[in-house]
Amino acid sequence: MHPLLEKLAEARKLSLEEWSRLLACHRELLHEAGEAARAVCVENFGHSVFYRGIIEFSNHCKNGCRYCGLQAENSQRTRMRLTESEILDACREGFSNGVMTFVLQSGEDAYYTDERLVPLLRHIREEFPDCAVTLSIGERGSESLKSLFAAGARRYLLRHETANPLLYRDLHGARQSFWERIHCLYTLKAIGYQTGCGMMIGVPGQKLSDIALDLQFIQAFRPEMLGIGPFIPNSQTEFAGCSPGDAELTLYVMSLCRLLLPRVLLPATTALRTLIPEGLARALLHGCNVVMPSLTPGPMKNNYKLYDKSTEQRTLATTLEEFQAEIRPMGYSLVRRRGDFSPDKEGES
Ligand code: SAH
Repeated sequence: MHPLLEKLAEARKLSLEEWSRLLACHRELLHEAGEAARAVCVENFGHSVFYRGIIEFSNHCKNGCRYCGLQAENSQRTRMRLTESEILDACREGFSNGVMTFVLQSGEDAYYTDERLVPLLRHIREEFPDCAVTLSIGERGSESLKSLFAAGARRYLLRHETANPLLYRDLHGARQSFWERIHCLYTLKAIGYQTGCGMMIGVPGQKLSDIALDLQFIQAFRPEMLGIGPFIPNSQTEFAGCSPGDAELTLYVMSLCRLLLPRVLLPATTALRTLIPEGLARALLHGCNVVMPSLTPGPMKNNYKLYDKSTEQRTLATTLEEFQAEIRPMGYSLVRRRGDFSPDKEGES
């Protein structure tokens, strides 16, 4: 094995300069890193793949992330919210198909106060006591995050987006703060959430040196979950004409993250699966162990587009069958488990 990959697998810690050197060799080392990451993943999770049902419940957003189709500036988007009963129906559909984790995702929507979210979370936890709820609803203050935790949310996804404060400013403008986002991530961890950070690969303006900073941040933060996907342009944003991120580089970075954090929950992101056929199978071969099919009902699905993608309206049952058919020949299978983070094999849920 390449000495730096070996060092990463053993020490689980590299200097910024070493991360940069590894990234510079991404083409040559893609296969080797993938094999090593896959072996580490199999050692820790066997051939099991966890699946989470994602419910995109509001596309209202106050933020102005330049890459994202939900940005407040996008006036072409029809804005909508699911009602509480629509969200619960989506959970029911998921549960009847074996989903044990519901991921509630939205733009940063002030309508969803704690007064609205707390009863919803309680209701989900009462009706599905064996299931986990993950929130992906943007930055909130620590009191709010504590209330949502007390109401039963145990996991939270908040990508850091980039660990370079200058690139962060360029992508988000002055009304969002890099340091507030990082602070929010540390608050989530301190409260006790299983916390996910992450970034896009190939977002306009990003260099390999920025990804090296991301890896260094991930190494320091030690997230329990990690979302890494290629940037895909959205035709309703100013990045409409930009090229998508490199799928191979995305797979390579996923592999490095698996070697860095052997127990991390690492999804084959929807963006990667959108960009390349067999994205799920290839992601598993590079160290991923989670997939997040959509539970979002039709009308919202058509209007919840972070990036351009077709919205074929397959049922969850069909989607899960397709996933199984894609991964079964490789010896993998979807497993009906909550799949919480656990630091070692013995404690795995
Ligand atoms: N409002 C929530 C959820 C954001 S959407 C939050 O702030 O966390 C989830 C993720 O989609 C984002 O964190 C971003 O990394 C990703 N995303 C947004 N636009 C994208 C695009 N054009 N291509 C690929 N991924 C994108």
